[in-house]
Amino acid sequence: MDKKILALCDMGSVRGISVRYLSSFIKSKACRVKLIFPLLPSRGFDSLPRLSDIQKQNVYNFLLEHEISHLGFQLMTGSFKAFKDLVKYLRSKHWQGTIIAGGVHAFICPEETLCDGVDYVVVGPGEESLLAILKGDVSLNEISGLWYRHEGVVINNPISNDAYIPLNELPFPDYDFSDHYLIKDEINVFTLKLFNKHNTWGGKQYYLTTSRGCPYRCTYCCNVNHKHISRASIDHIMLELKQAKEIFPDLVGINIEDDCFFLGSDEWTRDFSVRLKNEINLPFIIRIIPRFASKERLELLRDHGLKYVSLGLQGSERLNRDIYLRKETNKSVIDSCNIMAKLGITYIIDIILDNVYETEDDLREIASTLNQLKRPFKLNLFSMTVFPGTKFYEKVVNDNLLDKFSTDPYESVNLPSKKDGYKTPLYWKRLYDVISINSGREIDKLIKSNPLDEHSVKLVDKLFNRFSFKMKCAQYLKQNHAYLFDLILDLLSFLRKLRS
Ligand code: SF4
Repeated sequence: MDKKILALCDMGSVRGISVRYLSSFIKSKACRVKLIFPLLPSRGFDSLPRLSDIQKQNVYNFLLEHEISHLGFQLMTGSFKAFKDLVKYLRSKHWQGTIIAGGVHAFICPEETLCDGVDYVVVGPGEESLLAILKGDVSLNEISGLWYRHEGVVINNPISNDAYIPLNELPFPDYDFSDHYLIKDEINVFTLKLFNKHNTWGGKQYYLTTSRGCPYRCTYCCNVNHKHISRASIDHIMLELKQAKEIFPDLVGINIEDDCFFLGSDEWTRDFSVRLKNEINLPFIIRIIPRFASKERLELLRDHGLKYVSLGLQGSERLNRDIYLRKETNKSVIDSCNIMAKLGITYIIDIILDNVYETEDDLREIASTLNQLKRPFKLNLFSMTVFPGTKFYEKVVNDNLLDKFSTDPYESVNLPSKKDGYKTPLYWKRLYDVISINSGREIDKLIKSNPLDEHSVKLVDKLFNRFSFKMKCAQYLKQNHAYLFDLILDLLSFLRKLRS
């Protein structure tokens, strides 16, 4: 038997969907793979994304104990420094195995990723390239998207079109926990219980990918699949979900992670909904681009189990049009949310804040757009993260504004990590949350007011405290009593339908 053993490492989350896809693919080619999850601490001002000394030591011990020959990393920009630090540590201990890095950060910053101690960087889809490295049966200059050093010179191969394997041809993500490990202060084999404990929603949602790619080109986004949009067949998806129900007997829902669920035809959407209801019968969540939403599509999905929809407002029309190059309008967001409110679908709206280019007019316009939606809704407020390699990054650097942003993509994602960077006034952030469950004349006045008006600030703070208490209760329910949480949501949807 081939002595080579690959360990694939994800430091971001136990979900690790990319390493799970890679692992299944490599295993399907008769190679041995283990997954390791040395999770980084949660991020913020005081906790930098680095592995602890004990975790690094445990990774090293693991590599020796399991005779790992190849160590592959799935990198985001936020895990790059921890990766570099770990590689330095392993090499200082004279670990001789092959180190390979791929993922979003490798795609946007390959040269930086090929740092000291790293043998190969794979840019673009990793399945075939990783397999070729592991088997060693293809010459290096023929491997798609490979960056490596040869006699001191960095060589970079182009990404081959053949590297984009259609979703239908990829084996399902690897959830064979027997050779998966959680590395914290000790090394634990992943049990289902441990996996659920470290997963969002207590592990009761199955994260499903039905398509890769997105038709949009938002300037701040580092989606690496823009050019290659693909969707799995409905047969393939149903098979994956049936397997998932066997592995996770306590599933209460499916979280469809596609960037834009409405990519395909109406026919695909109809067949998918019907078969999902008949064969799987679990409620589900989707992410949509508002312009592609229609009453017919949403109603069809609602009738077959759609519960939540996530969509992006992101900014004012000026920010969307001129800075983010998104073809969305306030109207398209309001229209799709109105349809969902009528249908009793809960919607979750993404907004990007802490953006140096935003003005008070932009912030007021966002509040006013939110104020036109039916309550309640959920908000995800993100801090603008300027990822290297994006168009937005180029603009920020040209305008000499990089220092002014409060989020450093190497230290945190979507959360401020620089104390002195620009942050959206708290007044607006809190008001948005308040608007998500309140309406009326008081809110209208607060939108017209501003953070310099002491009376308005006090009122927003008071309403926000009430909001926070309710959210904490909801969070507790969601994590510990998912059924009850869904029941309450159903009741709210029903009341909302009655009102509209
Ligand atoms: S819609 Fe989302 S996934 Fe698509 S380009 Fe914009 S931010 Fe990226």
